Amino acid sequence: NILEVPANQIMADLLKKGLMVTINHSVPYEVAVEIAKSYGFTVQTDSQQQESVKKPVEEKSEESSENLQPRPPVVVVMGHVDHGKTTLLDTIRKTNVAAREKGGITQHIGASMVELPDGRKITFLDTPGHEAFTSLRARGAQVTDIAVLVVAADDGVMPQTIEAINHARAFNLPIIVAVNKIDKPDADPQKVRRELSELGLIPEEWGGDTIFVDISAKTGKNVDTLLEYILLLAELLELKADPTKKAKGVIIEAKLDKQRGPVATVLVQEGTLRVGDVFVAGVTYGRVRAMIDDKGRNIKEAGPSTPVEVLGFEDLPIPGDTLKVVDDEKTARELAEENRTKLQQQEKAPKALSLEDLYKKIQEGEVEELRLIIKADTVGSVEALKKALSEIKVEDINIRILHADVGAITENDVILAKATGAIVIGFNTRPDVKAREAMEREKVDVRLYNIIYEVVDDVKKALKGLLKPIE
Ligand code: GDP
Repeated sequence: NILEVPANQIMADLLKKGLMVTINHSVPYEVAVEIAKSYGFTVQTDSQQQESVKKPVEEKSEESSENLQPRPPVVVVMGHVDHGKTTLLDTIRKTNVAAREKGGITQHIGASMVELPDGRKITFLDTPGHEAFTSLRARGAQVTDIAVLVVAADDGVMPQTIEAINHARAFNLPIIVAVNKIDKPDADPQKVRRELSELGLIPEEWGGDTIFVDISAKTGKNVDTLLEYILLLAELLELKADPTKKAKGVIIEAKLDKQRGPVATVLVQEGTLRVGDVFVAGVTYGRVRAMIDDKGRNIKEAGPSTPVEVLGFEDLPIPGDTLKVVDDEKTARELAEENRTKLQQQEKAPKALSLEDLYKKIQEGEVEELRLIIKADTVGSVEALKKALSEIKVEDINIRILHADVGAITENDVILAKATGAIVIGFNTRPDVKAREAMEREKVDVRLYNIIYEVVDDVKKALKGLLKPIE
């Protein structure tokens, strides 16, 4: 569809390569890249997708689809611990009086939809923090449109503030800053602006392009203004979806309920999900038996950006997996089976991206930049590493440092690496227990060093394809 080449022609191309497929089959990534190349297209994986690539593709699908309509933005609230993320979400839900008047009781289903008096809507992920969207993203799901960064005005920028900014940037997620706790006597919103400016988030009033709103999550002051800005930004982003299509969504949460069986929250991203629809969701499938919204009401259909609890899964789906409505149960079962085979192959395969296979991936055109996450023992080492690595010039490969900080390698670093295809470099530091578990699970390449020269040398060698495997 994206290439605008008829399916039978692609099938013929594949046949020439010895692959007998129908329109319902999926082909290996490498093969897809080759085919696309022969039509003059460059393929990038989701996580490599940059603005430049994303735009034309989106525009094309807009042209080919007749029924695109504005959809509510999906927002994640993030920031340092205790800066007021949970309070802000509670306040936003509480001011959502319209819903309460209709007799609904707020349910925790993983995301909630807020409706303003004029009918405009915003969907919030209930779990605050960048971990939430990054771990969903690690499974390939683009869930959120906008990040609200909460920074307490009496505390200022803190380590997790920086981590949150870097996670948001790694996925090109636009950030709105909510300067919180302005009701406190020692609040200094200007200091927050200064600190964030140094990190490249420059307020509009200072000539930059980042929206800052001073709020009190506790008293509710300016929370309505924040919502207005979110909607304004959503309008600028031209978020659209076609509600007439077959539904597609992403699993946000899943649990086994004693009475109801497997229950999962689906965030509908495209089309309209209806009771009775047959679907595949990762390695499982099912038929929508019932849907319950975030106010505990039974609903018959759910359009784009709506979070709904869905009953009718055969098995528990995995958060981050995509749910897709298909024609019949047989197709659903077959697709689930295909996904299972794919997953098993992935599990058998070696690390997602390691320094050793970097060169091969570059040659194959699969990798265009080397992404790094740096953790070190001191601020001095972090700076020295950043400088040394930024001076490496090999061919056309760009080195991009997604996140650099002091301290142990954490689970978050590993999850970010997995989601972005980055490599983690630890300098005079080690992974903590949870990070080690995550490394094992996600097969992320984590490298430990204590001499800067060796880091630089390994990266250079990797870029030139000269690195010898460690073990
Ligand atoms: P989180 O860890 O970011 O989710 O932070 P919480 O929402 O749990 O808030 C941490 C503490 O800050 C709680 O005691 C809140 O009551 C308090 N708090 C949050 N927002 C405000 C605010 O706007 N003003 C004041 N004075 N306190 C706040």
